Amino acid sequence: MTARVLIVDDVFANIRLLEARLTAEYFTVLTAMSGPQALDICERGECDVVLLDVMMPGMDGYEVCRRLKSAPQTAHLPVIMVTALDSPSDRLTGLQAGADDFLTKPINELALLTRVRSLVRLKHLTDELRARAAGTQGLGLPDPLSMAAAEDGQNGRILLVEDRANAADRMSAALKQHHVVEIEAHAQNVLQQVQEGGYDVAIISLGLHEADPLRLISQIRSDNGLRNLPILVLAEAISDPLVTRAIDMGVNDYLIRPIDRNELIARVTTQIRKWRYQERLRDNLRASMELAIVDPLTKLHNRRFLHTQLQSLLADDTARGAAVSLLVLDLDHFKSINDQHGHDVGDEVLRECAERLRQAVRGIDIVARFGGEEFVVAMPDTEPFAAQRVAERIRQSIDNQPFSVANGTKTLRVTASIGVATAGASLRSGDSLFKNADKAMYEAKRAGRNCVRIAA
Ligand code: GH3
Ligand code: MG
Ligand code: MG
Repeated sequence: MTARVLIVDDVFANIRLLEARLTAEYFTVLTAMSGPQALDICERGECDVVLLDVMMPGMDGYEVCRRLKSAPQTAHLPVIMVTALDSPSDRLTGLQAGADDFLTKPINELALLTRVRSLVRLKHLTDELRARAAGTQGLGLPDPLSMAAAEDGQNGRILLVEDRANAADRMSAALKQHHVVEIEAHAQNVLQQVQEGGYDVAIISLGLHEADPLRLISQIRSDNGLRNLPILVLAEAISDPLVTRAIDMGVNDYLIRPIDRNELIARVTTQIRKWRYQERLRDNLRASMELAIVDPLTKLHNRRFLHTQLQSLLADDTARGAAVSLLVLDLDHFKSINDQHGHDVGDEVLRECAERLRQAVRGIDIVARFGGEEFVVAMPDTEPFAAQRVAERIRQSIDNQPFSVANGTKTLRVTASIGVATAGASLRSGDSLFKNADKAMYEAKRAGRNCVRIAA
């Protein structure tokens, strides 16, 4: 995985040092020797991660970070602050400026590469999600990018897996200022606990006495629903081989004991913020994919979905010699419901009708809103006589029970006209099947409405 890393430092020797280590790992390195120069490069979208020195004359690193994080086009760019002193107050200022991570000079090689790699991975994923989110503009969904950028990482739910009671209590006390913390001393309960959900981050001690923490991490990472859950590990020393193994297994970050409370808060909050940023973008993606196949008013499938499904249904079922039946339903005098009771009541009737259709058919049947007040049901493996029975059942389920609308203050009598057609060996195209059923539906209208007609 390669990426473009911007090194910002006013001391040339510092730049050279970092540059040598990063180019050895095949990163592309860009350099800037002042804050304004760094901002220019970032605004032009020329880098994926920023390594930002805190102490610079003129505009210092905190100010550069603040400006990057407050501009929508650079807010998602990961920033690693490089501090000369390992002081908690530096970290806190960095965190408040929006820094994603911290490194202390002299820079530890493993720490450098771990943090750069993990942020690069995050940046690539975010870029992908941002690109797709941009493609969903105009669909009427809330703007995912500004929602995601507004996430502050507070009020997270944290699971702390630690069997040393003192350490657990100290960490929990620090985190509780900003988050909700649950302590779990027994690793065997953890997998089920995180599967049951709701956590924003898991913190796992690598020094558990009765269980193998790496096994636990591997179980969490191989669970489909938990693959992206942020995990932080706690270790005795950076030289502990378990740290490297854990990072290879995909943990997001580590903390070395004795644990500094500010660093703990900073790292946890950062993980939560990033995780939620991506969740927002993923939610948007899910919603836009759903919009592509679901009718928003009734939550039935839409016409496009029906079209593609019907094609493959016909190909499969007619190949097996099975009949596929299609039912077209149109509400009677629906325009007058709108005219007399308003469009909102009309919408309620459409939703209730959708519900009755769902109740009346089998799970494998496809129910779609075709448009306006017209619905279609595609029924695999269904002979004409069976399709006619279903159609009659649907007609009755609408006719027999008046529709309760406007919070139960009104009841309306609604009826529907239904046409049915069946595809057998001679009829294979979805379009002509639909035309036949639609023609039968119009015959039902002509016959006086509220009845079923079967295509010849
Ligand atoms: P017919 O018995 O011949 O089918 O008469 P009809 O009034 O049901 O048919 P027509 O096609 O004249 O009118 C359909 C109406 O459905 C007109 C349109 O405004 C209304 N309509 C279409 N989509 C929606 C919708 O999403 N919500 C509501 N409330 N009304 C809709
Ligand atoms: Mg109608
Ligand atoms: Mg109509």
